[in-house]
Amino acid sequence: LFVYMSHSLRDSFPFFQANPGLVYLDSAATALKPLPVLQALQEYNTNQSVNIHRGVYRLSQLATDTVESVRAKTARYLSDAPDALAVFVKGTTEGFNLLAHALTSPESKLADFFPAYRSDKPPAILLSESEHHANIVPWQVAAKRSGYKLLYLRADADGCLASQSAEVAGLFDSYAIRIVSLSLQSNVTGIVHDLSAVRELASQHGSAFIVDAAQAAVHVPAKIKAVQPDFTVFSGHKLFSATGVGAVVGRKPVLDACAVYQTGGGMIALVEHEASTYLEAPARFEAGTQPIAEIYALGAAIDFVAQHAREIHDTDERLRTYADEKLKTLGVRVFGMSAGTARSPIYSFEVAGVHAHDTGTLLDEQDICIRAGHHCCQLLMRSLGVAATARASFSVYNTEDDVDRLISGIEYVKKIFRK
Ligand code: PMP
Repeated sequence: LFVYMSHSLRDSFPFFQANPGLVYLDSAATALKPLPVLQALQEYNTNQSVNIHRGVYRLSQLATDTVESVRAKTARYLSDAPDALAVFVKGTTEGFNLLAHALTSPESKLADFFPAYRSDKPPAILLSESEHHANIVPWQVAAKRSGYKLLYLRADADGCLASQSAEVAGLFDSYAIRIVSLSLQSNVTGIVHDLSAVRELASQHGSAFIVDAAQAAVHVPAKIKAVQPDFTVFSGHKLFSATGVGAVVGRKPVLDACAVYQTGGGMIALVEHEASTYLEAPARFEAGTQPIAEIYALGAAIDFVAQHAREIHDTDERLRTYADEKLKTLGVRVFGMSAGTARSPIYSFEVAGVHAHDTGTLLDEQDICIRAGHHCCQLLMRSLGVAATARASFSVYNTEDDVDRLISGIEYVKKIFRK
C-alpha cells in the first residue's frame, strides 16, 4: 500500500514525464513541483495577473485575499503562537539578511521581548559550525557593523553539534547572547539536531532564538513547532513550491518592534520630504511588488504537504532505512551516521580517493542527479575533514529503485577509479 501511495504521489510531478529515466536525488537543493503548485502559478499568471493591496477593483481584492490567506497558512504551518505572522521574503537567504539587520540595529526596540538586550555583558550571536552560509555571512556583516561577538557551537567529524556541554552554558554566562540562530536540520548530513538544551539556555538568558528551517520545513515540521522559535526562516522551493518566495515567521509585536530592512513603496504610512513613517508588520518588511504568483504557489505547496504529511513522513523513513542499509555495505564514508542521531534521507558521502565532483559527473553519466561541493557549509566541511562531499537527497517522489540506482552508480564510480 505504501509503495502504491508513493507511486501515485510521484505521478503528481510532471518532471518525471519530461525527464523519463532520470533519478533525481537533489531535493535538498530544490524540490520538484507537483501539479497543484504549477496550476497555482498558472492560475495567477493567466487568469488574474493583477497587483495586490490598494486595488479598488474586485480582481485585485481577490488576489489580495489569496495572498493574505497564504500568509496565515504559512504562519500556522510553522508556529502555534496565536500572534504568529509570516513576512514574505525571497527565501531563507533574504530572511537571514532581514533578521541580521533587524536584530542588531540600534533602531530596534527588543529589550522588552529579549532581556539579553538589557545586559551589560558583551553582546554576542551564537551560531554553529554546521550552518549554511546564509546563516553565517549576514551575521558576520551585522556583527562587524554593530560590535557583536560571534560564537559557534562546535560540530564534530560526523557533523553532530556539541550543544549540551558545560562549555555552551559557560558562553551564556560570559556573554549577553542576544541571538541564537541554528538550523534544525543540516542540508549536508540530514541530521536533525536536538536543539532542546540550547533552546532552554536561550530562554533562561532572554535570547532571541531563530531556526533555519530550510530543510526541516519539509522533513520535520512538527519539530520546528516543538522548539518554539522566536523566528523561523524557510524557502518555498525546498517545500515543493516555486523559487523566489519564502518567509520569516515571528510574533507580530516583536516584528513591529524591529527596524525596517528594505524600504520603498508599500511599507510606508506617511512620506514627507525629509523622513517617512512605516506601517506595521508584515507590510513594513514588504517593500515593492511581491512575488504574487510564487505566493500562490506557496499556498498550494503548503496544502500539498499538509494533505500528504503521512506519505511524506513514511517515505522519508522507508527510504532512509533502506538507503542506510545499502550504503553500509558499499564501503564509502557516509557522514552523520553516529548511533542515535535523528536524520532524514539526505546523504553526504565520500568515495575513497575520488573527488566529489568526479563522483557527481560519473553519476550524471548514468542519469543520476546528485550535488557535489561544500554545499555552502565550508565551516562544516572543515569539521568533517573534507573539502567537499557528494550529496544524494531523497524526497516523497523517490523510490527504492532510485536507491538501488544510486548504489550501482557508486559501484560504477569505484570500478572506474580502480582501473
Ligand atoms: N539554510 C539551509 C539549511 C539550506 O539548506 C539552504 C539552501 N540550500 C539555505 C539556508 C539557503 O536557502 P536559499 O538558497 O533558498 O535562500
